[in-house]
Amino acid sequence: MARYIFITGGVVSSLGKGLMAASLAALLQARGYKVRIRKFDPYLNVDPGTMSPYQHGEVYVTDDGAETDLDLGHYERFTGVSARQSDNVTSGRIYRDIIARERRGDYLGATVQVIPHVTDAIKEFALADVDDLDFILCEIGGTVGDIESLPFMEAIRQLRNELEPMQTLSVHVTLVPYIAAAGELKTKPTQHSVRELASLGIKPDILLCRSEHPLPEGERLKIAQFCNVRAEAVIQALDAPSIYSVPLQYHREGLDSEVLRGFGITDAREPDLSRWDDVTDRYFNPEGEVTIGVVGKYVGLQDAYKSLNEALVHGGMANRVKVNIRWIDAEVFEGNEADIVAELEPLHGILVPGGFGERGSEGKIASVRFARERNVPFFGICLGMQMACIEGARASGHASASSTEFGETNEPVVGIITEWMTQEGLQKREAGGDLGGTMRLGAYDAVLSPDSRVSSVYGGDTNISERHRHRYEVNVAYRDDLENQGLVFSGISPDGLLPEIVERPDHPWFIGVQFHPELKSKPFEPHPLFAGFVAAAVDQSRLV
Ligand code: GLN
Repeated sequence: MARYIFITGGVVSSLGKGLMAASLAALLQARGYKVRIRKFDPYLNVDPGTMSPYQHGEVYVTDDGAETDLDLGHYERFTGVSARQSDNVTSGRIYRDIIARERRGDYLGATVQVIPHVTDAIKEFALADVDDLDFILCEIGGTVGDIESLPFMEAIRQLRNELEPMQTLSVHVTLVPYIAAAGELKTKPTQHSVRELASLGIKPDILLCRSEHPLPEGERLKIAQFCNVRAEAVIQALDAPSIYSVPLQYHREGLDSEVLRGFGITDAREPDLSRWDDVTDRYFNPEGEVTIGVVGKYVGLQDAYKSLNEALVHGGMANRVKVNIRWIDAEVFEGNEADIVAELEPLHGILVPGGFGERGSEGKIASVRFARERNVPFFGICLGMQMACIEGARASGHASASSTEFGETNEPVVGIITEWMTQEGLQKREAGGDLGGTMRLGAYDAVLSPDSRVSSVYGGDTNISERHRHRYEVNVAYRDDLENQGLVFSGISPDGLLPEIVERPDHPWFIGVQFHPELKSKPFEPHPLFAGFVAAAVDQSRLV
């Protein structure tokens, strides 16, 4: 029987519910259980794919091609369980489906309403596809009391009644703020939040109290009493020195034992936490450090590059070094050679990440040129690979090389992809079509040249599968010119049409990939491209 853990948040947003869900799932997994985590997002976008990274942070892409909330990245990084389309739903998607059904006439004669139609759709989503699981953790986005999240709360309330008595558990994550002037931790916001949740018919079983200072026993008992939960179920969640210490920290605070007790499970085995011991050991005890510059557009908000940030940390763990990331705004240092040199010279590696639009592109191209000319390890991801090809084409004499994404050009080294093959058949797109959900999304295979650097990075594999999210593609018509200039196409789609990887064999480490390897990197299984890039940065750090 699959058991459900519903995770809600109160008091303020940004309490780290996603991380909490991921950590709890990792702890249950360490006890041998099969877990999956789902995210319910109350906003009206059908998916986050069309939102600015400044609004929503990174868009996380699953193997099956869904554009999802970045919390799914935490889930996957902490459990290794590949997230799926069916693990993230928004109010927008639910309403879209219901309205389409209404127009088709599926509800003929009935009034379509939030209860039962929307709540039923939410319950259906929660219950789908869970046969082989022990635990499903469902995180509700937003904060209790939000108007938008009410249908989700109501669906949970109903599910808690409809499922077996010991089949569901409610975990509420709150904040216990420290008031410096009084020198005290305050429990009142938590009491209010629990009251709000109770008014929606949901009684929390466990309270996870985020705080900057240890929760004194007296305050813990007070929360238990006022919030009507057992004292042991009030769990302190102190700020952690690293996200990767959170599973071990929650285990020490008794979170997983309390969850098992809540379900009445008495025969659980002790967790095997060796994976997390190793991860934290590598993180906290580096034997060196490197500095990597990420030249991007959304550098003011690190959530915009969440997976990238983590994958670089994992690359550091693989090499037992600390990776210092310098976020460089491509637009700011554009144009002025002296600025470019001053910014890039101290770096041991340069990474140009994925992105959209023309703004900052010349700065990105300039940093590719710097990396090429100065033999600095370079890693280009998606838009970064496209910039590497434009830079190579310019170096080979195509002075006006550009991308059609940036406007009309007579040298379209990068152009819109209009056709590609999927398992479901040929996909077609045209310029000016819908922007939502229409990119080349999800896992696609690539074939690597056997003697390339990239195939040795992948341990000799010549067939790989990686996740994509792009509308534009390097134009194979420029292949010969680029290869003559030294930029070799070392990975290509199985039909030979879409360039997937480029590299410079005469450079210490210069690789551009059309996909997003950062999405599949895990702390306990660093992605080989990030491990390889950081290793090259370590070599570089010995030179400068
Ligand atoms: N904007 C580029 C494209 O659509 C790159 C996308 C990306 O970096 N994810 O192809």
